[in-house]
Amino acid sequence: MIERDSLNPTSWVSRRHFITSSVIAGTGVWLMPRRLFAAENPVVTIRNAAATAKITVTKLRGNVSVLEGSGGNIAVLTGRDGKLLVDAGIPGTRARITEALANLSDDPVKYLINTHWHFDHTDGNEWLHSIGAEITAHENTKKHLATTTRVEDWNFTFPPAPAGALPTKILTADETLHLNDSTLAVKYYGTAHTDSDISVEFTDADILHVADTFWNGYYPFIDYSTGGSIDGMIRATEANVARAGDKTVVIPGHGPIGNKSQLVEFRDMLVAIREKVAGLKKQGKSPDEVVATKPTADYDAKWGGFVVNGDFFTRLVYAGV
Ligand SMILES: [Zn+2]
Repeated sequence: MIERDSLNPTSWVSRRHFITSSVIAGTGVWLMPRRLFAAENPVVTIRNAAATAKITVTKLRGNVSVLEGSGGNIAVLTGRDGKLLVDAGIPGTRARITEALANLSDDPVKYLINTHWHFDHTDGNEWLHSIGAEITAHENTKKHLATTTRVEDWNFTFPPAPAGALPTKILTADETLHLNDSTLAVKYYGTAHTDSDISVEFTDADILHVADTFWNGYYPFIDYSTGGSIDGMIRATEANVARAGDKTVVIPGHGPIGNKSQLVEFRDMLVAIREKVAGLKKQGKSPDEVVATKPTADYDAKWGGFVVNGDFFTRLVYAGV
């Protein structure tokens, strides 16, 4: 396991993307994890930042669009059966999500699929359910939302979600859905970023939402507290590479809309750093000693610019090899 105190909470909160509070910026509190209190927790900060977050809408293909800016990327399928959303964002952005959805079409929101249980993909569940969305997710998403769940590496304990936020349609096996003249293939990854990750493929439009198994251009967070691991991430990424074709539009959990060659780059980065860190751990080096050798140095400029920096990613890999 990772020693929580040795983790650097700065890594979870990117100055570029999330820090809006002058109380936090510039005070250096992130360097003192033992002194964290509620208002400084990265989960709280991200939730608060959503209140002012901008929403960017991109039309992809057919009747599929993506909303970026409120937690994980949100895919939207429009049509006469009602809108289907893949992931729910954060309610602080509700007004701007509502506006963006209304600009896409008049169809009411009828369906929501959660790609996994994390707050930045499910916090919006309750309000979307309140306006009529049926929530579908893997059974482990329901399990984690329904109970008190702690994520050590965020130093945060999530209370059980309200009843209205819980998925009511539970996936135990892969499923094919037909909606709005589109076919959707929903597949479970097995343990990867968590133990609840699923992909949603819009097969006619050749669009693949790969949940948080892919952070396009960034080191990914890996949630060991609920079943994630570096090897699970690599397995999931191999599956994504195998499924994507040259024209496939790939929606990552975080980062810009991507494609197959970016999945391949991501896979190569994960594998290379895993091998480096595993080798150093085999030599008997402690997490601090491995971090001190900077095994991610060649990759940090490209991948370290978001919420997980090279040192934090090294610790996440170390925990799983
Ligand atoms: Zn996640």
